[in-house]
Amino acid sequence: RKSLTIGLIPADGIGREVIPAAKQAILALGSDLPKTEFVELLAGFEYFKRTGTALPEETVEILKYDCDCALFGAVSSPSKKVVGYSSPIVALRKELDLYANIRPVISVAPTPDEKPSVDLVVVRENTECLYIKQEELTIGPNGKEARATRLITERASRRIGQIAFELASKRPRKHLTVIHKSNVLSVTDGLFRETVCAVPLLPEVNGRYNDVTVMEQLVDSAVYRLFREPQIFDVMVAPNLYGDIISDAAAALVGSLGLVPSINAGHDFVMGEPVHGSAPDIAGQSIANPLASIRSAALMLRHLGYNKGAGRLDIAVDQVIREDQVLTPDLGGKSKTEEVVEAVLKKI
Ligand code: NAD
Ligand code: MN
Repeated sequence: RKSLTIGLIPADGIGREVIPAAKQAILALGSDLPKTEFVELLAGFEYFKRTGTALPEETVEILKYDCDCALFGAVSSPSKKVVGYSSPIVALRKELDLYANIRPVISVAPTPDEKPSVDLVVVRENTECLYIKQEELTIGPNGKEARATRLITERASRRIGQIAFELASKRPRKHLTVIHKSNVLSVTDGLFRETVCAVPLLPEVNGRYNDVTVMEQLVDSAVYRLFREPQIFDVMVAPNLYGDIISDAAAALVGSLGLVPSINAGHDFVMGEPVHGSAPDIAGQSIANPLASIRSAALMLRHLGYNKGAGRLDIAVDQVIREDQVLTPDLGGKSKTEEVVEAVLKKI
């Protein structure tokens, strides 16, 4: 690439505070990246309230045709049904076929030579499960009845399984945990489990995953073990909803949701996104932790092959936590978002 065009979709709440931080961090990389341009794009619940649409077509078109990658902040999706509103992040994952949500959860060890006590990656299927949002409300003999369709396909399970095995095979421990609830949902989760576990037998794999050890764990006990002995986990692969829940739970182990990054990855596009939401409880106070967003930029850049730039961002973030201890309140500090960003920029 001669140049790099990055779409920025801050959306709502603290998304608007942390995405500018990631932009500044990327700009600080200078010549480690090709000539970089940013395109600010609209989406979100606030935008919906103004215009009646949460994800303008223009945003999708520009992402598809003009951008090499993107960074998404967070949306404030209401808990009550709002007519005409649908979450733009769920729609974007679908529109751009970003079928893998990769979420590394890593603690910062007290010294650079020590191993982190938590070092795992949640690989979350990103296009189906309950997120197809086929819900209906009917009236039965005993009152209201709500139903949701949960879709698990062989195709989506296979491709997320391939991502998870590939990732596991490249990590030092080469261990994969398949998360499901097949003891109850033997058809849907049964298909997920069976398809993922069969990935090493696909002809094109050609024995490449023979050294990956596979463990299965029911989702409820997986959360239990995650809290008791997080070090047993390396790569965890899960259907959409379990993956969402497990990654928030894992974030608690490393101190804050404000630290955990992700990418939404597909065949030909990648979108970085902090795991956290729009955090209405702290929005507008300049105390949001920008590190998840900066780490998401690093993941996105690494996915595109800019390993040097990505590495510099990750090291800067680790140093700010470990050495400078310039921390926002979620990590027990007193620093403002801007002060953390300043500290990171200095380390870069
Ligand atoms: P949340 O992740 O926004 O917040 C959970 C808790 O973590 C809050 O106490 C918040 O203050 C804290 N927190 C999160 N990120 C932080 C950061 N960077 N720095 C410091 N503290 C941080 O989850 P929620 O409160 O359940 O949801 C709020 C809104 O966000 C909802 O409308 C929900 O739909 C939306 N949401 C969006 C996404 C997304 O856009 N991908 C993801 C999750 C939730
Ligand atoms: Mn979530």
